[in-house]
Amino acid sequence: MSLRLFNSLSRSKEAFAPCAPPKVGLYTCGPTVYNYQHVGNYRTYVFEDTLVRALKLLGFSPYRVLNITDVGHLTSQGDEGEDKMEVGAAREGKTAWEIAKFYTDAFLADWKSLGLTDPDVLCRATDHIPEQIALVERLERNGLVYKTTDGLYFDTAKLPDYGKLMSKEHLEGLRSGARIEENPEKRRPADFALWKFSPRGSRRQMEWDSPWGKGFPGWHIECSAMAMKYLGETFDIHCGGVDHIPIHHTNEIAQAEGATGSPFVKVWMHAEFLLMNNAKMAKSSGGFVTLSDLVEKGFSPLDYKYHCFTAHYRKQLDFTWESLESSRTARRRLAESARSLAAVPARAGSGEYSARLRDALSDDLNAPAALSVVWDALRSELPDGAKRSFLEEAERVFALGLLSAEDVAGPPAAVAALAAARAKARAAKDFAESDRLRKEIEALGWLVKDGKDGAKVVKR
Ligand code: AMP
Ligand code: ZN
Repeated sequence: MSLRLFNSLSRSKEAFAPCAPPKVGLYTCGPTVYNYQHVGNYRTYVFEDTLVRALKLLGFSPYRVLNITDVGHLTSQGDEGEDKMEVGAAREGKTAWEIAKFYTDAFLADWKSLGLTDPDVLCRATDHIPEQIALVERLERNGLVYKTTDGLYFDTAKLPDYGKLMSKEHLEGLRSGARIEENPEKRRPADFALWKFSPRGSRRQMEWDSPWGKGFPGWHIECSAMAMKYLGETFDIHCGGVDHIPIHHTNEIAQAEGATGSPFVKVWMHAEFLLMNNAKMAKSSGGFVTLSDLVEKGFSPLDYKYHCFTAHYRKQLDFTWESLESSRTARRRLAESARSLAAVPARAGSGEYSARLRDALSDDLNAPAALSVVWDALRSELPDGAKRSFLEEAERVFALGLLSAEDVAGPPAAVAALAAARAKARAAKDFAESDRLRKEIEALGWLVKDGKDGAKVVKR
């Protein structure tokens, strides 16, 4: 079966035809680094990683760009409110730059612990201010920009197909004024900031000179500018969570297509929400769980990754501790089967299961179906060598740590809690306490190994 992907632009599954096969250019919206990312965010990154891995398995050569939003994302999601970076700085008594560095590092550590593949390009908005200014200038030359007292705005009325990514409900919401903000100088509610001036008398930490005055870029312009810089004016796939459809991605399209006159992206793919208590898990609402919270409770980040594979990426997924426990149990069972095959040399013969795995992935990345093929193969009458070679193939996509030499089940909850307490003590430079906790962990039969990616706990 050839690869079919659901395109949010056409609202249908389409045969995938990249611009220059086998190359596939992908842009994936990354974190806003003013706080820890929550496991909802990681649902989207796990989906994107699985997409990249599946593309590789299916013979494509993906090239992935991931951005770090370290300026310009305002608390309202629109053009009002404070910059989230400056809010983070005020909250923690640090500079906005320190906040960006700290939470970028935390994000990258989580990324590693989930076994996600490094992107080919990791780019920060603050490192690409000239590119963003150049793009706004290009839009200005095309007559798509107007100026108000607080910044430069995109004139959405001038782009006939503005909003083509939005659903009927999104457009309805826009029409009925859901996005009316306090700025009376905006010509239309949908118009959005490309460049904002530093408020007079303010003490903004992140600001740059521009042809229009000192200020900072709007949130959306960074993604259009960096995507086109690294992937060209038209590229293959752009991903993110569904919350980005009506504003961020709609505006990315407007900026790119308004500047170039060419289609920006062939396929738009969006991951549905991870829910907690029947609502989107979100940093702004306070109800969120981080990967460290899971580790403190004795889960491996890979248990959470398994949990992500239990639902199709376009279906909402509930987060509860009970469901996470079921995923842990399932992953442990898989790991035990895998361990029994560890010493067996891989052998050909798993063709039927390989074909089923590829078919499931080719059907709009159906991870739950692909995972059930893994279970079927392990329970089948296949010779052990063929099972082993199939598992190696499946791990290229799932990367659940099933074949790694380490104890895949991870330490028990009590040891994980001690390790987390030790990490906190070390971060606070309380070395006496961290040594005491190390000894306690050793007494329980585990060793702490400090490395450049943080501490790991392994069996003695
Ligand atoms: P942010 O740091 O808010 O810019 O979000 C980073 C990524 O996580 C974006 O692609 C969002 O669409 C996605 N995201 C945010 N909340 C959730 C959620 N509850 N479930 C799945 N993805 C999410
Ligand atoms: Zn983006």
